[in-house]
Amino acid sequence: MDLIVMKFGGTLMGSVEAIKHSASLVATSVKAGTRVVVVPSAMSGVTDQLLKIAATAERGEIEFAQDEISLLKKRHLETAAALGASESGQQKIQAMLESLAQTVNGIYLLRELSKRSKDLIVSFGERLSAPLMCASLEQQGVSAFDLTGGQAGMLTNNNFGNARPLPEAFNRIPKRLEGLFQQNVTPVVTGFIGETDKGAITTLGRGGSDYTATILGAALNATEVWTWKDVDGVMTTDPRIVPEAQNLEQLSYAEIMEMAYFGAKVLHPLAVVPLHEKGIPLRVKSAADPSFAGTLVSSESRPLKNGVKAVTAVRNANIIDIGGAGMVGAANITSQIFDVLAGLDVNVIMISQSSSMANISIVVQQADGKRALEALQKQFAESDSVGTIEFWEAISVIAIVGEGMRGARGVAAKLFTAVANEGISIDMISQGSSELNISLAIDDEHTVQAVKAIHKAFGLEKLEI
Ligand code: ADP
Ligand code: ASP
Ligand code: MG
Repeated sequence: MDLIVMKFGGTLMGSVEAIKHSASLVATSVKAGTRVVVVPSAMSGVTDQLLKIAATAERGEIEFAQDEISLLKKRHLETAAALGASESGQQKIQAMLESLAQTVNGIYLLRELSKRSKDLIVSFGERLSAPLMCASLEQQGVSAFDLTGGQAGMLTNNNFGNARPLPEAFNRIPKRLEGLFQQNVTPVVTGFIGETDKGAITTLGRGGSDYTATILGAALNATEVWTWKDVDGVMTTDPRIVPEAQNLEQLSYAEIMEMAYFGAKVLHPLAVVPLHEKGIPLRVKSAADPSFAGTLVSSESRPLKNGVKAVTAVRNANIIDIGGAGMVGAANITSQIFDVLAGLDVNVIMISQSSSMANISIVVQQADGKRALEALQKQFAESDSVGTIEFWEAISVIAIVGEGMRGARGVAAKLFTAVANEGISIDMISQGSSELNISLAIDDEHTVQAVKAIHKAFGLEKLEI
């Protein structure tokens, strides 16, 4: 019997109509004899709203936090009623909202928001939406049961805000879900959240519901994992930036990882990792057009004629440029830079080093920029080798991705010409040794113009196989 894990993001969980439609996609498969595990995200905008509630409570602005909780309450209870949730389903939601209000009050009283309590607060988004999916499934004749990630066996490390599954999770998950399968009940597992061995709630990082789905898929040896989206699968670039973007029929695990890492928001960057190891295919499907194949992600590599498959952008980044004549030959400078950044848990998006070694440039997310800069300034304050540390704001990293670029000539030239022809100057360039991508940093204000020009230069509005 086939087993498919189906994930629904915030937009597809965002309203009564959207949830009904998402549940109908599950029901169609279940009624056709497929076992399905459902992974819903929080309703659209709710994770951001919870983060804001937590931050305002910490600052002492409790009235604002309480008003926002009232809005969440109204939205979830009205949706539950409209979906025909059972009395006990509605009570569960009500109890969850009370628990949220108490947690927020605790933050307010302590004026302290740790990473651990932040995870607890954002977890309410998915914990509130899973019963809604259950209610809609029940209404459509599918018996369903909702579980938190922890209840479903999603054991993680205690890296709050960016937790990773522990190997034991892969044994626990099938054991925890087995009973439901035996009774023909469809498990609805909250996306995004897990639990430490001490029972504290963790999250897998923003966009983590995709990752939940693939961890469950690998643990259950699923036939396939399907992430339903509000777009026609994975496209050659963000269709919100370039309406001419085309659907990509096939991508390798490595290609989608590279795209996600370089800013294609369509999938969590680590989502394919658990699938890769087991060779389980991922399908990115269009909720608006369920009969359309979407994008199949597998270990196969099927390059396009021109080598490049997609253009991505990471916006609002910072460049930190570390320079000094004394750096020439000082091999330990690079390791010190990375030690400092690793200690802060800062992710480096891009790096380039001049061959003379007189400077090293790195790109980090804006959210990390200032603290990375301060830590590096402190590290090298007494250094004879490092002369200057410069900081550039409002940067964007544009990347082209595709396995077919490996060994192909003229790709970089075409990329730089496309950008130069727009009169945009390039701040930094880097190519990974895997030759799966070439990335460049430009001023953020030119992002849309550059993405459009590059997309066109590589003929991505009309794909040639
Ligand atoms: P979900 O909530 O289902 O996880 P997301 O909003 O996280 O969905 O991701 C889908 C969005 O990703 C789309 O609405 C689209 O604007 C954006 N996106 C960015 N790059 C791409 C791309 N290359 N292909 C498809 N969508 C993309
Ligand atoms: N709700 C979480 C977020 O907004 C997880 C997800 O949607 O995948 O990041
Ligand atoms: Mg997402």
